[in-house]
Amino acid sequence: MRKNSINYFPYNFMQKILIANWKMNLDVEKSLNLAKQYKKNLRTLKGLELVVAPSIPLIIPIKDIFGSAKISLSGQNVAAFSEGAYTGEVSAKMLKQIGCGYSLVGHSERRQHLVEADEMIHKKIVQSYAAGITPVLCVGESLKEKESGGRDAVIINQLQRALSKVEALPDKEIIIAYEPVWAIGTGVSVEREDLIHVERIIKRALSSLYSENFYNEKVSLLYGGSVNSVNVSVFWGIDKLAGFLVGTSSLEANEFLKIAIQMK
Ligand code: PEP
Repeated sequence: MRKNSINYFPYNFMQKILIANWKMNLDVEKSLNLAKQYKKNLRTLKGLELVVAPSIPLIIPIKDIFGSAKISLSGQNVAAFSEGAYTGEVSAKMLKQIGCGYSLVGHSERRQHLVEADEMIHKKIVQSYAAGITPVLCVGESLKEKESGGRDAVIINQLQRALSKVEALPDKEIIIAYEPVWAIGTGVSVEREDLIHVERIIKRALSSLYSENFYNEKVSLLYGGSVNSVNVSVFWGIDKLAGFLVGTSSLEANEFLKIAIQMK
């Protein structure tokens, strides 16, 4: 593998960050076309860490398309094991070797449809650090949990179960994406006041798990859930918010660019 072909720009804490989660929405041709549009439209954006999470088989061709453009790559998932007889899994080391600097961990679609439990999410975080990948830990409540008043407890539990006793953590950065399940792909996003409240909950949980310094110095907070070029300005500017994890609106290069521009 050519060394200079690695699209991994080490994450600089406190950087603004915008992550595109393409999920399994596009076929090969459409993914490669979208990558070309991203490169054309987004390469001039400075001061913003842009990250694309395509499906695994597309990471290498997309890395080649991006070339020298400053767009990083992320896995949409990572194995909970380092190597061995785990059919269908992709290790953190392999993600790193093919140019990923990040991996999404604990996305609600995986928790929901692939029965991904907190214990496994914890292992995925440990594996990510061991391989030198920054995990993007997704947390958030379902509609039922929200309506029954359980939101804060759900978020605190998810954080505790995923992160307690991750020994590498106090020295490493982590990205936490608050993604309420009911907001993902629905066109309904969180209220600004609720996001401000959830930031405080996350701060309290991580400060007591590690320390307030850890929270202030090592944690970047993202919001995800129906972010688009119209509502992004409602959230942008909230204290501690470092950026967004975007699904639907990342499937159209112009729309994604409009979000990115407002984060400048
Ligand atoms: C997501 O799945 O991470 C997401 C935020 O999706 P959407 O932007 O479509 O709500």
